[in-house]
Amino acid sequence: MTDVIVVGGGNAAFAAAVSAAQQGAKVVVLERAPEEEAGGNTRFTAGAIRFAYEGVDDLRKLMPDLTNAECERTDFGAYTEDQFFDDMHRVTEYRTDPDMCELLVRKSRPTIQWMQEAGIKFYPIWGRQAFLVDGKFTFWGGLTVEAYGGGPGLLEGWTTSAQKRGIDIHYGARVTELIADDTGVTGVRYKQDGVTHELMAGCVILAAGGFQANVEWRTRYLGPGWDLAKVRGTRFNTGDGLRIALDIGAMPYGQWSGCHAVGWERNAPEFGDLAVGDAFQKHSYPWGVMINANGERFVDEGADFRNYTYAKYGRRILEQPGQFAWQIFDQKVIKQLRDEYRIKQVTKVTANTLEELVRKLDGVNPEKALQTLTEYNAAVDQSTPYNPNVKDGRSARLPLPKSNWANTLTDGPFEAYAVTCGITFTFGGLRIDTDGQVLDVDLKPIGGLYAAGEMVGGLFYNNYPGGTGLMAGAVFGKIAGASAGKAAVLDKAAV
Ligand SMILES: Cc1cc2nc3c(=O)[nH]c(=O)nc-3n(C[C@H](O)[C@H](O)[C@H](O)COP(=O)(O)OP(=O)(O)OC[C@H]3O[C@@H](n4cnc5c(N)ncnc54)[C@H](O)[C@@H]3O)c2cc1C
Repeated sequence: MTDVIVVGGGNAAFAAAVSAAQQGAKVVVLERAPEEEAGGNTRFTAGAIRFAYEGVDDLRKLMPDLTNAECERTDFGAYTEDQFFDDMHRVTEYRTDPDMCELLVRKSRPTIQWMQEAGIKFYPIWGRQAFLVDGKFTFWGGLTVEAYGGGPGLLEGWTTSAQKRGIDIHYGARVTELIADDTGVTGVRYKQDGVTHELMAGCVILAAGGFQANVEWRTRYLGPGWDLAKVRGTRFNTGDGLRIALDIGAMPYGQWSGCHAVGWERNAPEFGDLAVGDAFQKHSYPWGVMINANGERFVDEGADFRNYTYAKYGRRILEQPGQFAWQIFDQKVIKQLRDEYRIKQVTKVTANTLEELVRKLDGVNPEKALQTLTEYNAAVDQSTPYNPNVKDGRSARLPLPKSNWANTLTDGPFEAYAVTCGITFTFGGLRIDTDGQVLDVDLKPIGGLYAAGEMVGGLFYNNYPGGTGLMAGAVFGKIAGASAGKAAVLDKAAV
């Protein structure tokens, strides 16, 4: 007899499955994707994960392999719970659900420690989240750690951990329906190899992702134009989990018109490619400028650290004519560009002069582009020193300013990269209580039904602090797993 069914095979699903098994529950994981494509968006990530920590001692506990020499050449600083709260409130424009945000922030450190004890290894994100200045790496933007081996490493860690606990994982098993009666949910119907099966259980945990891979739902909920976005991750997150829960009266919650979307290689395929992972993203725009088809800038590229702007700038790119932009850099910053700029699948042009460059930017008005770049260069405040580790206040004073890291574009050869909008995941989801149980449209808990991860609404609105998706999946997965595991085991004992 199965106690807990977990629907999905990403970070939230495995956190829930392991947590339920720790309660003594017999757990089955149903993953829609075949094994070679399994793992949802989680597998596409770099594994960067945000949590509150007080200082290096917390990090050494999490990463016992950190050496004294590594600690000496690095300023890890601290990322306090207060800072995490501030970031969540600021970027969501004070809309984040306070109870959910409280759980996310306060449980972040114990949850990552629990993941480590469950068998997942972590590593500092030197290079992408800390730059070497005056002989020392200084971390910025509250994002310090990633799973060892990135998303694939995280998934491997979870899978091994689940298998060790006797959790059954079925691949290619697409859940199509919840089985429910007046007491609540009692099982699921799923299809595997063309055959429909029924599986009964004490509790079901939905962790089946958002609806970003469903072009019709994107257009319906996010609005016109979103059919033209590229999907950064898995093609299997088409909103199934949301649909089957709404079908039995679950309460929708959060920003159904909102999503996480970034600047993404203009000629990337329709869905993510596991061989490329997250490297189609182009996240070094704070060190350069972006222009659209009209040859105009359209965002403050240096408004904040990349971690606090990248998830909302995809939408801004989608809004531009032709849904594309070019990111332009000069030699002063080229060596600082993230690794993703050095893959072979890039749409890139180079030129020795700006005059030559603007003529090479496919689809762009060259005269206007040259005027924009010339005016930008003239507006840069050269008296303030450039420092990528802090918000340096080195600005370009224009009607649309560049508030930090404004370097002139003067040192050729120049490089330009074409981007479009890549959607990561959708913000709208189901409403849960603080035990992870799904609420119905009367705000009453639905018996036996829990949810976690991307398919939970209420946490993110308009924007998102980088690295929070994995942490939210882990925190709410662990909570849902513990609640469902406990409930199912108690129910079984009572029979
Ligand atoms: C390219 C990229 C890079 C990212 N980088 C980061 C990062 O560094 N840090 C970070 O915090 N976040 C990152 N994110 C966001 C992060 O991936 C998600 O927030 C997180 O992985 C979501 O976890 P999840 O378990 O909710 O969903 P997923 O990992 O997407 O898992 C959903 C699962 O549900 C399965 N499923 C769907 N429908 C069904 C069905 N009907 N039946 C059974 N199973 C079903 C899917 O196959 C999948 O296994 C990134 C995302 C992408 C795409």
